[in-house]
Amino acid sequence: MTEERLDGKRYGTPSRTLIRQIENIVGKESILSAKEDLICYGYDATNLESLPDLVVFPKAVSEISEILRLANERRFPVVPRGMGTGFSGGSIPVRGGVVLVMTRFNRILEIDRENLVATVEPGVVTGDFQKEVEKLGLFYPPDPASTLYCTLGGNVAECAGGPRAVKYGVTKDYVLGLEVVLPTGEVIQTGVKTAKGVVGYDLTKLFVGSEGTLGVITKIILRLIPLPEARRTMMALFRQVEDAATAVSKIISSKIVPSTLEFMDNASIQCVEDYLHIGLPRDAGALLLIEVDGDREVLPKYVERIDRITSELNRYRFEIAEDEKQTDALWRARKAISPASYRLNPTKMAEDITVPRNQIANFIQEAKRIADERKLKIINFGHAGDGNIHMSLMINDRDEGEKRRAEQAIEEIFRLTLRLGGTLSGEHGVGLTKAPYIDLELSQMTIEVMKKIKMALDPNNILNPGKIFGK
Ligand SMILES: Cc1cc2nc3c(=O)[nH]c(=O)nc-3n(C[C@H](O)[C@H](O)[C@H](O)COP(=O)(O)OP(=O)(O)OC[C@H]3O[C@@H](n4cnc5c(N)ncnc54)[C@H](O)[C@@H]3O)c2cc1C
Repeated sequence: MTEERLDGKRYGTPSRTLIRQIENIVGKESILSAKEDLICYGYDATNLESLPDLVVFPKAVSEISEILRLANERRFPVVPRGMGTGFSGGSIPVRGGVVLVMTRFNRILEIDRENLVATVEPGVVTGDFQKEVEKLGLFYPPDPASTLYCTLGGNVAECAGGPRAVKYGVTKDYVLGLEVVLPTGEVIQTGVKTAKGVVGYDLTKLFVGSEGTLGVITKIILRLIPLPEARRTMMALFRQVEDAATAVSKIISSKIVPSTLEFMDNASIQCVEDYLHIGLPRDAGALLLIEVDGDREVLPKYVERIDRITSELNRYRFEIAEDEKQTDALWRARKAISPASYRLNPTKMAEDITVPRNQIANFIQEAKRIADERKLKIINFGHAGDGNIHMSLMINDRDEGEKRRAEQAIEEIFRLTLRLGGTLSGEHGVGLTKAPYIDLELSQMTIEVMKKIKMALDPNNILNPGKIFGK
């Protein structure tokens, strides 16, 4: 497998000698090379795939450094990987080479209760970390819906968000510092362990969201906050999507910041009802799942205010969970969207555009028109509280015509998003899937600056090539 590099030269394929050199660095037991194993590390949640030449499970920072040095010497690509749950193709080895699976870096090194700081390795599963800090009355809010499987390293590399972002922000708001192996093999520390720190450029922020293209993250220092005492969950169903969108704006402007404000459109509601049969009304225009958290005494006031705001709109069902069991029941519909959507068609083209909150209804109406014109099935759901809509076209990708129509629709939907003042990705990153479109949002000069940063750190373009900028 050979491919163009950024500077126009070509990559080579790892030879037997090269594989032996890598074995000498990490040991035979840390390598997979059989085709059936390579297949398991060549795809992510996009369902795109490309085989690596080798899969390596490093155990030490020094091993990663040595592999990267060798990669620069022999010019083969290296692609970091967490759990492969990414939604933009970030961990797919499009140009072959070595996939570096970070799951052996799975220790929580320290939870400092006095300073509300934790130091972790990148292969720790996000949900496991959350459980550990919650046992101590602490809270790590970023909660991608994949939290039970994804890694903190993958979260940092993508700057993952989740339902709680509306109140608590996203991964970058919690990363204080990092240890990173640069693409040329040197190891650097960025950031601080203190609450403040402004010495030099903010390299931590540069690496957060860099999608595995600027360095391999080997240690993460995370900020923690106190665990909220209690939470209350509500579900409101509306006849019209516009009413749900107005409810979102009114709730936020009434100075309540819900910890979650999730949204499902009519197509998502129907899809979930077909799948779960839980009595969701098929004619509902939209569903909002609203959660508030904080001190136990203030929550009834928030619930009462949300009840009043939504009742003034065209609402026709409102439920409040009284205990954990009822809370889980209300979340069931939202959590089932992903599996339920595959009943519509086998392939999902999922985007995570973000628009200003007051443009949500416009976006949904226009996106539906674009899909309908091309006879495509579309569902919209997501994090309405921060305008982050997961727009999915469910297609049969064996039908070449349908695939082409879907690609045209995606481009038109991206242009619509930008016209409404939004951005192409709120949390999933550019990776492979959005690489052809970044110049719709970023100026050529901005892209040039980004490419210069990439070339400065990775002059031979060996780390995760083909991502963000495409070629
Ligand atoms: C059902 C489902 C729901 C999801 N919900 C959400 C959601 O609500 N919010 C959200 O933001 N995302 C969501 N995602 C997307 C995905 O889970 C996140 O992007 C997550 O952060 C990826 O973590 P991972 O460990 O699987 O990383 P991978 O997919 O393995 O990798 C993702 C990127 O990170 C890089 N990377 C991984 N580890 C390192 C490292 N140690 N150093 C440098 N680079 C590294 C890879 O090269 C790649 O570019 C969802 C995915 C699924 C399947």
